Amino acid sequence: MVMKRLAILTSGGDAAGMNAAVRAVVRTALDRGVEVFAIYEGYQGLVDGGDRIRKMTWNSVSNILNLGGTVIGTARSEAFRTHDGRRTAARNLLEHEIDSLVVVGGDGSLTGANLFRQEWPTLLKELVELGQIDQAVADRRANLTIVGLVGSIDNDMFGTDMTIGADTALHRITEAVDAISSTAASHQRTFVVKVMGRNCGYLALMAALATGAEWVLIPENPPDLDNWEDKMCADLKAGRKAGRRDSIVIIAEGARDRYGNPIGSSYIQKVLEEKLQEEVRVTVLGHVQRGGAPSAFDRTLGTLMGHAAVETVLSAAPDSEPQLICLRGNRITNAPLMKCVEQTRAVAEALDQHEFERALELRGGSFQESFRTLRTMLRSLPHDPPAGQKQLRLGIMNCGAPAAGMNSAVRAAVRIGMDKGHIMLGIANGFQGLIDGQIKPMDWMAVNGWAAMGGSELGTNREVPSGKDFYAIARNIEKHELNGLLIIGGWSGYQAAHELYRERDNFPAFNIPMICMPATINNNLPGSELSIGADTALNTIVQSVDKIKQSGVALRRCYVVEVMGRRCGYLALMGGLATGAERVYIHEEGVKLKDLQADVDQLVAGFKRGKRLGLLIRNEDAHPVYTTGVLCAIFEAESDGLFDVRQTILGHMQQGGDPSPFDRIQATRLAARCVDYLIENSRSESPSGAFIGLEAGGIQIQAIEDMPRLMDEVNQRPKKQWWMDLRAIARVLAQPAPQARSEEK
Ligand code: ADP
Repeated sequence: MVMKRLAILTSGGDAAGMNAAVRAVVRTALDRGVEVFAIYEGYQGLVDGGDRIRKMTWNSVSNILNLGGTVIGTARSEAFRTHDGRRTAARNLLEHEIDSLVVVGGDGSLTGANLFRQEWPTLLKELVELGQIDQAVADRRANLTIVGLVGSIDNDMFGTDMTIGADTALHRITEAVDAISSTAASHQRTFVVKVMGRNCGYLALMAALATGAEWVLIPENPPDLDNWEDKMCADLKAGRKAGRRDSIVIIAEGARDRYGNPIGSSYIQKVLEEKLQEEVRVTVLGHVQRGGAPSAFDRTLGTLMGHAAVETVLSAAPDSEPQLICLRGNRITNAPLMKCVEQTRAVAEALDQHEFERALELRGGSFQESFRTLRTMLRSLPHDPPAGQKQLRLGIMNCGAPAAGMNSAVRAAVRIGMDKGHIMLGIANGFQGLIDGQIKPMDWMAVNGWAAMGGSELGTNREVPSGKDFYAIARNIEKHELNGLLIIGGWSGYQAAHELYRERDNFPAFNIPMICMPATINNNLPGSELSIGADTALNTIVQSVDKIKQSGVALRRCYVVEVMGRRCGYLALMGGLATGAERVYIHEEGVKLKDLQADVDQLVAGFKRGKRLGLLIRNEDAHPVYTTGVLCAIFEAESDGLFDVRQTILGHMQQGGDPSPFDRIQATRLAARCVDYLIENSRSESPSGAFIGLEAGGIQIQAIEDMPRLMDEVNQRPKKQWWMDLRAIARVLAQPAPQARSEEK
């Protein structure tokens, strides 16, 4: 069988994370012994040929993970839209006998790729007739294999939960809105912020959920009243009256009224100025949303999708249908490309035909759920409690070490609980506060601005109650008449909740519904593949390592970077994957002297070949003897004078910082579900305990009885850790070039 030959191109709008995909495609292909080419400048490069089609080596994709945009360029191409243009493109590919194409782009680019594949046999026939290619070549490369990745900041593709670049765009937007909020609050001013997204309201919706915006306009939900302008102004006025100092209206690029007329930012400005009688400022975020360094998530997403694309190409049967690489519930899968494109187009059609409900439905369950939650979060005051409903008193606390997103979770829980007519009580300093009785009701405005704040405003603590603490807790639960408990935190919070649950026969007061929500940077909790705070910590790691790498590149230096995580290697491995670290040390694998010997040999060989920088990431508890200091000493002693070694311990900055958009959004979604759980269970005769999480299938709630079964108590991590499967990919992509590897042997 003829070996496939592969090319990658990026097309349409650029998006952060495309470079990670290019790197992963090139290196995975080379690792599998497949020749791989990059097409520069998108489809235009395919039509132009010549040096726009370049053979890639292992090192052609070094040091690009951290770069925004796409290093191989992108362009719109009118020529590729024509049959003649595509025939030229086919000829250019066949000059290198390329028969497989990975296309990273939006629905336009992917449609083009599909058409190209359909026409391929015809194009080949024409080229043979024109004498431009040999029949033998046409026979060898009779089929074109297409695999698509969606690179788009809009997150508008059906079939995938996230597109490459959307998370980074959200980072840019939340940074900007946070900054605007503080100046707006200083002057008690109103701002209109316009964000990108074409037909899709994802960026606007998520940005509003992640910040303190007060009004949002998205294409899928046009304002339904004829005098919506009055309603908007009344809402903003009510917000001011309730104590808000800033008012922010977020408007999506594709916002429209229910007749389909576009709503622009200057129109909103004019309306607000007239009705509020104050100056209103407009910020159109524009292309800053596309730019800048990719977020940790986009680097990983691009990497995993790129890797999967090559595997999909290599396993594809001849003439098989083009596939789209998708992310579904934290897993990479694939789906028929054109089906996804068609469904995406169906949303655009629904919008064109003013079928807004259908458009919203096609966006999927989590989009709709987020939208419902947002409507509550935006309110300036809660709804009045329904008459005759029992008003519950629900306690909220943070436990364990601080994690970014804890405040976003508390904010969401307070507002959602209050909006459903209940009394929400904040418990300060975790279980210690519950023991000491530091419990007080929170009001709507008490959590204003908390979405964007790092740390824990309630205060947090690692206390796990025992002995006479239980009496104190029971007394306080009774005294404050708590009907439910939301515990947002890490390992110690989970342990404490489980202890209370076990003591419920001895202490009847503990017979209230309780739910644990995962919030720790370590990502070491059972029942959740991701915990709140880990994404922010990963971004801190990635940004720090970018800087460290820059400082070292001039010096022939090797860094050993120590990251947190206790005995859970998640931050180390994912940090390594997102920064291209050549080696990651984690407790799960342990560290052996013979491995260190191999690592030293590889480092020395690498620097001998001219490498300028080494990067190793070590989890803080990877090994009790081979500490970061010891590793550095060993490497330096063995460096043969070729390089020096420095240690960097990132420390507590990993726990701090403004929460990432992902942490804010997930914290809000999880907290909303937790409050629903407490309310539902408070009606039960025998209320239960539970823990919530983000699992591969979506949000899941499990019974607290199952907690011990899932936990590795000794190492304080879940028995099963999904991300361990990613180690092989991290290893493949960060190893030396295959040629260097064989020379070393
Ligand atoms: P996106 O991929 O982001 O949706 P575009 O719609 O601008 O961006 O498409 C990018 C490029 O893909 C176009 O400039 C064109 O070269 C190619 N393309 C798009 N649609 C088609 C099509 N129907 N047939 C052939 N090529 C297309």
